[in-house]
Amino acid sequence: MRKRFGPYFFVLLLLLSSIILFPLQTKAEFKDLTDKNPTYAILALSREGIIQGYPDGTFRPAAYITREEFGAILFRMLELEEKPEAASHFIDIPKNSWARGIIGALVDAGITKGVSANRFGYGDYLTREQMASFFVRVLGYEEEAKKYNLPLKYTDSHQIRTAHRNDVAFATEIGLIAGTGNNRFSPQEFSQRQHVARLAYEVYFNKNQYSKAVQQLKNPVKIFIDPGHGGHDSGAVSPIYKHLFEKHLALEISLRVKQILEQEYSGVTVKMSRMTDTYIPLSDRAKMANEWGADHFISIHHNAGGGTGFESWIYSGKVSNVTLQKGQIIHDHIAKSLGVRDRGIKRGNFVVLRETQMPAILLELLFLDHPTDAALLNNPAYREKIARAVAEGIAKAWDLKKR
Ligand SMILES: [Zn+2]
Repeated sequence: MRKRFGPYFFVLLLLLSSIILFPLQTKAEFKDLTDKNPTYAILALSREGIIQGYPDGTFRPAAYITREEFGAILFRMLELEEKPEAASHFIDIPKNSWARGIIGALVDAGITKGVSANRFGYGDYLTREQMASFFVRVLGYEEEAKKYNLPLKYTDSHQIRTAHRNDVAFATEIGLIAGTGNNRFSPQEFSQRQHVARLAYEVYFNKNQYSKAVQQLKNPVKIFIDPGHGGHDSGAVSPIYKHLFEKHLALEISLRVKQILEQEYSGVTVKMSRMTDTYIPLSDRAKMANEWGADHFISIHHNAGGGTGFESWIYSGKVSNVTLQKGQIIHDHIAKSLGVRDRGIKRGNFVVLRETQMPAILLELLFLDHPTDAALLNNPAYREKIARAVAEGIAKAWDLKKR
């Protein structure tokens, strides 16, 4: 009888029990986590041995974290080796602290310099601005953050200490860190364990995503916006609203498209053929875009001649797949957003489409001689709607990230 339960049986039993018990164990881990916490991040990091809970089975997601506790997380993420001697200049680390070797390792790896020449800030809670700097260094972008010297957009940006300004701006730009709501960053607020976990998860598991964002920052998409007509060439003039000139509408909308793209999206730079009411020959517009090395040429016009709605134009000769694909995305987004008649994408032999060496599209945004269209164009709120639709279409076509 006993022979029936040979050694293989017990091996099998052991395997089965571990398969059954493992997910139960991880679920039971950290009994104080709710749907409001980044549980995915906490559990994933816990499985990697990077982050730990408390012996009572809690994680304490909203608790603050000391600088050395945070240091221990980074130490494990980076798989460093303890270097107590590299922390010997910090006079505030207790003599027999468990963290001495860890802090030394982080100093050695260039992740921390302490809060002053001879203090690590031992026992201090980690602030949000400090967290931003730590993670920027862990990602290896300290130099880039300095170099780009990006503007800070938070309403409490003035509260961010000089030492952290570039890091906070950079971490925000690449989408790693966000504010605390109401466009505030709250730089001196203490970091909660759950927020540390969420960022540590991003840095540890999604590193590639951020290197892609940094690449985009180094090499932004170049959008060339060409407001049609200008100067003595007024383009179409509305017979209904006599002050509505195509050249003015095209310029106003183009300027707003540029502003929306640059303020609301990252990894993009915009140049225009004209920023004022001046006449520029068609060939010169194409030449400007070619010399700049634009990625996309977008010409803004308004239609006339009997009709209603929106249409786009692409060069009638041979064009690249990118021209067709991105043109379609832009056209469809504008058509959908404006809700006017969609007249489709047409093919034409226009100078600006023919002589540009990059994908190019010409947009005819409503008819100045149609009563309904003209009334819409005469409405500043609707012009804003058009500009937003164009900007969003471009952002969609080029996969631009929202700031
Ligand atoms: Zn025109």
